[in-house]
Amino acid sequence: MMKRIGKILLGAAFCLLPALPASPAEAAAVKVFVSIAPQKYFVQKIAGDLAEVSVLVPAGADPHTFEPKPRQMVELSKTALYFAVGIDFEKTWLKKISATNPKMRIVRTDEGIPKIAMAAHRHGRESGPERAAAPHGHVQDGDGSGAGSPDPHVWLSPALVRIQANHILRAFLSLDPAHRTRYEDNHARFLARIDALHAELTSLFAGRKGERFMVFHPSWGYFADAYGLGQIPVEIEGKEPKPALLRKLIRRARERGIRVIFVQPQFSAKSAELLAREIGGKVVYADPLAENWEENLREVARKFQAAAR
Ligand SMILES: [Zn+2]
Repeated sequence: MMKRIGKILLGAAFCLLPALPASPAEAAAVKVFVSIAPQKYFVQKIAGDLAEVSVLVPAGADPHTFEPKPRQMVELSKTALYFAVGIDFEKTWLKKISATNPKMRIVRTDEGIPKIAMAAHRHGRESGPERAAAPHGHVQDGDGSGAGSPDPHVWLSPALVRIQANHILRAFLSLDPAHRTRYEDNHARFLARIDALHAELTSLFAGRKGERFMVFHPSWGYFADAYGLGQIPVEIEGKEPKPALLRKLIRRARERGIRVIFVQPQFSAKSAELLAREIGGKVVYADPLAENWEENLREVARKFQAAAR
């Protein structure tokens, strides 16, 4: 009842009252789940303390092969909203989660994002700006063999996070319209921060078009595309490279003068270390799953800028 009156009042007067004081009934935060930690950052930027955000894939776990724990399934049964990002495990698990909690709304924040093919399916070919853009906005492999699985790492490009932020805003507006102005103001502030970060990274990589960095797991395809760079993946289709490919990678790194192999904490760094030894270089961490998305992207960008050749 209070909520309804609140809604009617708000509908009539929200232009006059930009910050309606929250009643105790409205103070309960919306329970929200996200798949990975950077999404928690996005949701908190938009919802602030109006949402209580839980991350399904814990730090250190691989989101490609993750499976929820029974304890998490219990928590998910009390969740109002789930923000999916398009990562592998969602395909099977969101159906099971929906079955235990049919009231939970699933929002696909990657909807409307044109996906590139996962670099691991390019049979060792580099990803990068030389790839031809195909019709309907998809970017495909240069040799035309490219219909691999779509690359899920859409949270690593500021322009694509903008799209995800819009989906998140719309979900909160429809679930909790009483706090419309707070969501909208937060969202506008977040978009401004995203744009500032993008401008900063654009100038960081100015004049570096076509350069490459070498990375164990190819998480950085969208990032590379955004700034005119290319990633050379070491891992092929989720597996350690065979000796012949390893030799090819060593040759390619030497030719380009690449001395750094990027690894992420969720994967073994064994073959990356072997490769680094062969080229007289080193292994450096670049985490695609850090919760402080902005700070992390800035930090990783500086490392790429230093290592790209
Ligand atoms: Zn990945």
